[in-house]
Amino acid sequence: MNTTAPIAVVSMSGGKDSLATALKAIDEYGHDRCRFVTADTGHEHELTIAHLSDYLPRRLNIQIDVVKADFSADIARKRVYVAEKWPAKLVNGKPGKWVRLGSVEEEAEPPTPGNPYLGAVIGGWVWSPAVRPMSADEAAEVVARALSVLHPTGIAFLDLCLWKGRFPSRKAQFCTQMLKRFPLDRYMIDLASQGRRLESWQGVRRDESHARRNAAEREMTPEGWEIVRPIVTWTAREVVDFVRSHGVDLNPLYSQGCDRVGCMLCINAGKDEIVNAARRWPEHIERIREWERLVGMACKRGFSTLLHHADGEGGDAEHAYRHSNIDSMVAWSRTTRGGACLRPDGAGRGHGGRGLQLLLRPL
Ligand code: SF4
Repeated sequence: MNTTAPIAVVSMSGGKDSLATALKAIDEYGHDRCRFVTADTGHEHELTIAHLSDYLPRRLNIQIDVVKADFSADIARKRVYVAEKWPAKLVNGKPGKWVRLGSVEEEAEPPTPGNPYLGAVIGGWVWSPAVRPMSADEAAEVVARALSVLHPTGIAFLDLCLWKGRFPSRKAQFCTQMLKRFPLDRYMIDLASQGRRLESWQGVRRDESHARRNAAEREMTPEGWEIVRPIVTWTAREVVDFVRSHGVDLNPLYSQGCDRVGCMLCINAGKDEIVNAARRWPEHIERIREWERLVGMACKRGFSTLLHHADGEGGDAEHAYRHSNIDSMVAWSRTTRGGACLRPDGAGRGHGGRGLQLLLRPL
C-alpha cells in the first residue's frame, strides 16, 4: 500500500465550483501537493480558454495541464465501415427500434410503434425511426457525402460528432464521458503509474441538481484513487463568497449572462442561454451552424442538431431538423413560446439561474 502523502488532482472546467475546489486544495495541501488539469473539448468560449490558460495560472501561480480526446483512429475505422457497409445498408433501409430510457424496468415490453418512420416517446421508451430504403445511386451519394467530411479536424467535440454521425443529446449524453471523463481518467492513470498516491478533487455540489443530491464527500474508485468533493454541501452563495474571499476573479462569462461556462453552447442549453449567446456571440452561432452542416453530411439521415426542441419530436429526421437546427432554436429563443426569458438579455435561468446572477452582483 502506498502510504505517501496524497496528491490532490483538481479537474478545472473554468467554472466557479472547480475554481473553489482548486483554492481549497491549495489551502489544505499547498502548491507542491496539487495538480491541475482541464479537458479541451474544442467547444469552449474563448473567455473560458483565456481564464484557464492565462488568468488562473498567473493569479494562482499554478500550471494547468490540458488533456484532449483524439478520435482520428475512430474516424479512420468509420471511413472503412461507411465505404464497405453503408451501400447495402442504405439500399435495404433500416428498421426502427425502441430505446429504453433509465426509468423503464428491464423486463418491461416496448409499446407497438405507429408509423415506423416517425419518432415517438411513449412511457419512457424512445422510438428511433426507420430509414427508408434508397436506390443504389442515392446510397452512393450518401456514402460519398459522408466520406467527404470524415476527416479528423483536431477539434475534439466536432471529431466525436463526425465519428458518431450525430450530436450528443440529453438521452444520449456521450460527450461528457468521451471528451472529459475518459481523457481525465487516462491522465490519472498515467500519474498513478508513477507511484503517486492520488485523490481526484471534484467541484460537485449536492444542490446543483437532482442527480447530485446524494453525492458522497469521499469515495474510492476501482482504479485505486479516492474521489474527494470538498464543496459537496456548499451552496452557490458559499462558493462565490469563498472565491471572492481569496481575491480571485470568476470566469468573466458569468458577468455576461452565462449561468454555466462549459461548452458554448452546451447541448442542454436553455432558452435564456441561447438568446444570450446569439445576442453577444453570433460567431459561435455561426460555428455551430457549420458544425451542424458537417455532422449532417456524416449522418445517414443527412441531419443532426446540437440542440433539441420538443416540437421536433414525433416526426421524421427532416421534421426534427426543421424545429431544432441552431437558427430555429435562436428564432424560438427570441419568442415567448415555451416561456419567456427572465431577463431581456437572456441571462438568468437554469443551472443556478437568476439566483446565480443575483449572487454575482457587486457587493
Ligand atoms: S458541457 Fe454540455 S455539451 Fe459540453 S460536454 Fe458537458 S454536457 Fe456535453
